Amino acid sequence: MNPTPDDIQILEARKAQVHTKGAAPFQLACEKHSVAGAVSQRACVFCGSRVVLYPITDALHLVHGPVGCAAYTWDIRGSQSSGPQLHRMSFSTDLREKDVIYGGEKKCEAALMELIQRYQPKAAFVYATCIVGLIGDDLEAVCRRVTERTGIDVIPVHSEGFAGSKKDGYSAACRAIDHLVGTSDAPPPPGPSINILGDFNIAGETWLIREYYERMGLNVIATITGDGRVDDIRRSHQAQLNVVQCSGSIKGLAQIMKKDYDIPFMHVSYFGLEDMSKALYDVAEHFNDPAMMVKAQALVRDEISAVMPELRKYREALQGKKAAVYTGGAFKAFSLVRSLRTLGVKTVIAGSQTGNPQDYLKLESLCDEGTVLLDDTNPLELAKFIDQTGADLLIGGVKERPIAYKLGVAFCDHNHERKDCLAGYVGMLNFAREVYSSVCSPVWSLTPRQRRTRDGQTAPLPKPIPAPPKPYLRRVRTAPKPKSNLTPLTLGGLEVTA
Ligand code: SF4
Repeated sequence: MNPTPDDIQILEARKAQVHTKGAAPFQLACEKHSVAGAVSQRACVFCGSRVVLYPITDALHLVHGPVGCAAYTWDIRGSQSSGPQLHRMSFSTDLREKDVIYGGEKKCEAALMELIQRYQPKAAFVYATCIVGLIGDDLEAVCRRVTERTGIDVIPVHSEGFAGSKKDGYSAACRAIDHLVGTSDAPPPPGPSINILGDFNIAGETWLIREYYERMGLNVIATITGDGRVDDIRRSHQAQLNVVQCSGSIKGLAQIMKKDYDIPFMHVSYFGLEDMSKALYDVAEHFNDPAMMVKAQALVRDEISAVMPELRKYREALQGKKAAVYTGGAFKAFSLVRSLRTLGVKTVIAGSQTGNPQDYLKLESLCDEGTVLLDDTNPLELAKFIDQTGADLLIGGVKERPIAYKLGVAFCDHNHERKDCLAGYVGMLNFAREVYSSVCSPVWSLTPRQRRTRDGQTAPLPKPIPAPPKPYLRRVRTAPKPKSNLTPLTLGGLEVTA
């Protein structure tokens, strides 16, 4: 007999990181190293630092290591730029056996000199990977020498992949950005000003959020790092408030700026109607400006009334469905639980890769009795609990997608690889559309899981779906390619666009 997800046993060392709400007093172990053999969904330190830094569009990003590390390129993520496109390039020093034996410093310095000459970046970030940590290249010295020779800020990022988890990469990125903060003496803008921290402009979300704040009368000095610019980061110390989304990745920078420049910060989320509105109200309240609050209220009223009629239809169709949520940071999970509730969907599994004890306390308080809470889970546990709870939908990132499809449940991509805007009011509508079209797709009725759960045993497969008529196929094949809105880059005579 084939094994089923019910046969999956939780590893002894993992049991403390799994909790079912209501089964026992709440206790969930977290902030631990991943258990060997448990196939954590977490990424490496280098990946964490790259996630935060590379949306800085006019900086050079050089990966010092074997070419494989540089496979994680812009095209895997959807971070947009309104101008420069340099962040899209995946430059690597391509370390090989000889470099591992004799050291890679010379190669790194030569690569930096060549790239700076060729692309004239505003600054350069050099990422240390696992092998650089092992062979002991002095990246600080290389960056210092190149800065002296070129006059461009060349910043080492201490992101050796093995030296922790993705979360340590976030800290390394925050320390790297801090090299630039406060290095401009441009005059500050008049009126209330903020920096937007922790939005990475996936599918243009930073533009949307920036527009909301500007409609409230705020000056946005820097967006760190979505659609980021080096010169804006240099003068970001002039802002009167740091508004921090994705606290896991960028809170470290907000804390540094609080300590060095006495800039207060607040946590917000831009996902879901409730959290988006709260973000705008909290910022208006911080500035204690009645006129700004009136503008925020008008904005919230207009935006919600524009999306509500369509949202109601999805809510009717999705009523009573169940979802599993697994995110990188826990902050996004809070918003997702609330957004799903808006759509009539109950969260039956909730977890994150990097949550801390306070995060999980809050997550537990948001969830219903019986919800399974997971820290740093793995594909087998997710499969087990999705099957046990009868979840209709998994929300996660690119690594969770195959788990959902193999189990025959709907999937919604809520990570950096997606190409749809899910932030703000319009984002909530996009989210509802995506959840609806995936959960209510007829394709799931063909999967073994659905056929088994309907009557307790496996029903015969339905008749195969007839092939689409030929004109349909022709139409698809001859459809014109969507026009890119990105400025082409010319590389070695080749024109490159997304
Ligand atoms: S774990 Fe090491 S080798 Fe793998 S991608 Fe990260 S830095 Fe590169």
